[in-house]
Amino acid sequence: MIEAIVFRGVRAVDAGARSASPSASAVTAALEDAAAEVDVVVERGRITRLGRDAGADFAGPSRDRSGRVRVVERRGAWLLPGLIDIHAHLREPGAEGKEDVASGLLAAAAGGFVDVCCMPNTRPVNDSRVVTEMLVAKGRAHGGARLHPIGAITMGQAGEQLSEMADTRAAGAVAVSDDGRCVTNSHVMRRALEYASTFDLPVIQHAEDHALTEGAQMHEGSVSTRLGLRGWPRVAEDVIVARDLLLAEYVGARYHVAHVSTAGSVRLLREAKSRGVPVTAEVTPHHLLLTHEALLGYDTACKVNPPLREEHDVEALRAGLSDGTIDCVATDHAPHGTLDKNVELAEAAPGMIGLELCLPLLLGLVHAGQLPLGRLVEAMTTAPARVVGIDVPRLREGARADLVLVDPTERWTIDPARLRSKSRNTPFLGRTVAGRVVMTLCEGRIIFEHAEA
Ligand SMILES: [Zn+2]
Repeated sequence: MIEAIVFRGVRAVDAGARSASPSASAVTAALEDAAAEVDVVVERGRITRLGRDAGADFAGPSRDRSGRVRVVERRGAWLLPGLIDIHAHLREPGAEGKEDVASGLLAAAAGGFVDVCCMPNTRPVNDSRVVTEMLVAKGRAHGGARLHPIGAITMGQAGEQLSEMADTRAAGAVAVSDDGRCVTNSHVMRRALEYASTFDLPVIQHAEDHALTEGAQMHEGSVSTRLGLRGWPRVAEDVIVARDLLLAEYVGARYHVAHVSTAGSVRLLREAKSRGVPVTAEVTPHHLLLTHEALLGYDTACKVNPPLREEHDVEALRAGLSDGTIDCVATDHAPHGTLDKNVELAEAAPGMIGLELCLPLLLGLVHAGQLPLGRLVEAMTTAPARVVGIDVPRLREGARADLVLVDPTERWTIDPARLRSKSRNTPFLGRTVAGRVVMTLCEGRIIFEHAEA
């Protein structure tokens, strides 16, 4: 049995590490952004030592413990706190052919995640204690990354009658959302904010005025016009965000915007935050990296909801994430089978997988000097932890050993055969990225380790 895991000479990168200098070359800046090389020792599920040569005792030949100490020599690699995703669709119960709790948590571990929040738009909808308890039990039985269910705001996500949040909260739900559907009725949204705040649950809104998006296939703009497809205008998101910010301010309740996609939402959030409105927000990797032009070849893998927008939205989202207007990154991991995607764009299901690719893809922005490394780590660790009220990860002695070891420069090509998810719906297959998740630890246990092909 392994008694200790010792990381030698790694760069411990905690949330909020110093920003990259804009003058230095991008990769150098990213590397300088990381801390000095240290050893990190993990014993009994915790970080017991952290510092220069802190693991020397364990690594020397004089202290051979016949295999009971695992020494990881990966000098210069980054050691980050375990990542947290507050927006994943694990499809259980009801669509286990696309994903289930076990496969979703394996994919999460492969992406460096140790905590995953799963959305309630399953069959049946998670609007009850029974479904929440089932998910919590499945997550525990899996024993890898931790699972945190999100309960529905309304019964059956029908947008009318509030769910029994006291029950789902007691069973382990960490937030409420009708994700996939928007709570469009202002009265229901007001009551939801009031009711959820009595349980200190954040209300996560999928901001979409459905009356403005009926039949929409993609973003409403020049590309939708060229392709002759019905568009989903930005304003359908912006009007809901604007209304909800007014309601959240009026009620004084915690409000969180899922998958922000428009420059207008970023502007509204920035203004509301400047006045102290209790709002937080998330952005997905695909909205940070792709535009509506990805749909020019009718690629159904790029059909997502909300849709991919335009260059100036992408710029606003990156700026909002960099300056903290957008608190966190969330994957919106949305697995679909080939039958859902190998069809015409109009019939294709929206969504793409994201758990395994999120960090490697976004490290591209860090390498390009477009996102400070410390901000990215914060946006994937402490910020999402605060949104849903779970333990905030720390990289220090005594902290729970939830860790991810990353080789920041290793180049690799995304190979569908090596993904852990049951689904393959992502436009990033075949893309070469720089940055590899080498190992993920949850409570001191290795829940993922990259094996060379
Ligand atoms: Zn959504």
